[in-house]
Amino acid sequence: MRLPKVRELREAIKALIKGPYTSKFPKQPHKPHPNFRGQPKFDEKKCIGCLACEEICPAAAIAHKDIIDENGNAKRGMIHYTDVCIFCGQCEAACIADKEGIKLSNDWELSFFDRKEESYETIEKDLQLCEICGEPIACKDHLKWIAERIGELAFSSPTLYLSRLKSLGIIDENIISALKDHGRSDRIKILCARCRRETTLTTKE
Ligand code: SF4
Ligand code: SF4
Repeated sequence: MRLPKVRELREAIKALIKGPYTSKFPKQPHKPHPNFRGQPKFDEKKCIGCLACEEICPAAAIAHKDIIDENGNAKRGMIHYTDVCIFCGQCEAACIADKEGIKLSNDWELSFFDRKEESYETIEKDLQLCEICGEPIACKDHLKWIAERIGELAFSSPTLYLSRLKSLGIIDENIISALKDHGRSDRIKILCARCRRETTLTTKE
């Protein structure tokens, strides 16, 4: 007869005293280890929609979709695809919103019946559109974030300081857009890079 090794005997005695190593899942909910890397989750309030996480994700598990409806309401949907995520944590590490815009959770029960309909999570952020061409510039929270970071330097960019004033409620959302003279006043608007260049180089006096 083969005798058990000392290590195996020690483990067996420990298991007898302490109870089994395995959890009683699914009878009882399983509590993962605190360092367990589970489903990354966006925080709608803290995420600023900058797309840094989408750029860095090695598995292309993060994407975005910009939607502008017929009333001019513009939203950016940030999407996380659970079925392709490899839970590496690079999105959290690269998040410019103090690593709070997306965070790994310990959510591990990720099975689903309908892969197409259930394998993703999404949040929505308000988008800022160019006041001349109507193309998306960035998320409003992202422009506010930049303006706050660079302080008084934001006054060199009408897009940034007007975004900041709007977010503070100092100017009305629609007051700038109302001036559509395609002249010098266009320079004091929230513009995309292309329209900024065109208004600076070509507008009449
Ligand atoms: S954990 Fe890794 S794979 Fe998953 S979304 Fe974040 S960066 Fe992409
Ligand atoms: S703020 Fe963070 S979570 Fe949101 S888009 Fe940027 S990097 Fe991703």
